[in-house]
Amino acid sequence: MPRILITGGAGFLGSHLCEHFLQKGFEVVCMDNLLTGSIDNISHIRDRRFTFIHHDVTEYIYLSGPLQFVLHFASPASPSDYYQYPIQTLKVGSLGTHKVLGLAKEKGARFLLASTSEVYGDPLVHPQPETYSGNVDTLCRRGVYDEAKRFAEALTMAYHRHHGLDTRIVRIFNTYGPRMRLDDGRALPTFIRQAIEGEPLSVFGSGEQTRSFCYVSDLVEGIFRLLHSDEAFPVNIGNPEEMTVVQAARLVRDLLQSRSEIVFNELPENDPKVRRPDISKARRILGWEPRISLEEGLRLCLPYFQEAVRAQHVRSAGG
Ligand code: NAD
Repeated sequence: MPRILITGGAGFLGSHLCEHFLQKGFEVVCMDNLLTGSIDNISHIRDRRFTFIHHDVTEYIYLSGPLQFVLHFASPASPSDYYQYPIQTLKVGSLGTHKVLGLAKEKGARFLLASTSEVYGDPLVHPQPETYSGNVDTLCRRGVYDEAKRFAEALTMAYHRHHGLDTRIVRIFNTYGPRMRLDDGRALPTFIRQAIEGEPLSVFGSGEQTRSFCYVSDLVEGIFRLLHSDEAFPVNIGNPEEMTVVQAARLVRDLLQSRSEIVFNELPENDPKVRRPDISKARRILGWEPRISLEEGLRLCLPYFQEAVRAQHVRSAGG
């Protein structure tokens, strides 16, 4: 039975990956320090082939036994998280990636890095192909995340070229689905919570900036295919269905039949103006493309968000 280590496995994406690889017959080791993730994301997994290790991957990693695959997903991922944890974000992208690559090398395992569309920064090329090298401001607040991921990509390629390590890099575009935190500051969970609560939907700036949202099951399938391909260079995985942020807010409001108004707040520093993946490479080499439209995906995850809002009320009422 193949054995896989998933760092950040108690987070939003990591927990879906843990489930997926168990389903595909893998033995799964999930390693997480619970900085932005939660044990609640994996507590339903009752399988003898699943192990959780509470560990910070920026520290020395010891794992006994053979290992065939490593997915490195540990990192704060939403702007509010990496603003709160700037040093941890830089450390997990640099020291953490170094430790995890070292483990993969020692075990002779294939390594896959979770990179991000943020390596493209505020892009001057649209949509963004993998060949675009980006427009990133090192010194702005977002720089801690963008540069950590760019460093992690460079380190991964160095291990590939210099040590002959078998590596993959996925550049993930905005992904949504069950287990996102209501308060992580990303657009969709914020709009959904606000619409459920009957609060105004708060859009940054004019809301004319664009985003492309991918449903989590589509992303997981893309990652699974990339891991089993032989492509060492980065591959974009995301949904090219692009819309303005205000259109996304209206869609959420309509789906929830909410009467909330849409309000416009100050635009955060260096908020990317456009974001849309060019997925020609994923189509060509992985035969992958997303199947779930935003409207369908939102319907799929609404029950989760409704339950999360209800649970939050119970907690704040002290119940
Ligand atoms: P998340 O915050 O839910 O998950 C990240 C997990 O990493 C958390 O469980 C956290 O506790 C853990 N972690 C952080 N630092 C750690 C450390 N030093 N040691 C061990 N564990 C640590 O975020 P997510 O949305 O699931 O993102 C997962 C990965 O995917 C991240 O690397 C992120 O950069 C990448 N990504 C996500 C998106 C997206 O849309 N969700 C987009 C692009 C890239």
